Amino acid sequence: MNFSRKIKRNKAKNRAKHARKALKTMGKRMDSLGESCRACGKPFDKKDPEALSSWVVYVEDNDARLVCPTCKKKIDELVREQEDDDVGINEAGGAEAQANTRVGVDSDTGE
Ligand SMILES: [Zn+2]
Repeated sequence: MNFSRKIKRNKAKNRAKHARKALKTMGKRMDSLGESCRACGKPFDKKDPEALSSWVVYVEDNDARLVCPTCKKKIDELVREQEDDDVGINEAGGAEAQANTRVGVDSDTGE
């Protein structure tokens, strides 16, 4: 019974793929890096130390995507949901696993 180990490894491997998928789901802005959040378009202040430490960059295929902390959180939620979906497909008893899925209702910080 090493199902769980196998699933864990798949999760890690799929994480980047899911993040990219999540980004696509969230927004279609194709601005270049360094100006604003790729998902919601919020401007990035390079002089703000807090922004520098909290914003994240996803790099895929040599293309960097800047993402604000609010969207980062949403992406994490989406990635988690997609990971749970994968488990549901790969594993018998997936319905139960999905029932345990945390529904992402974390409120935005309003930034
Ligand atoms: Zn954003």
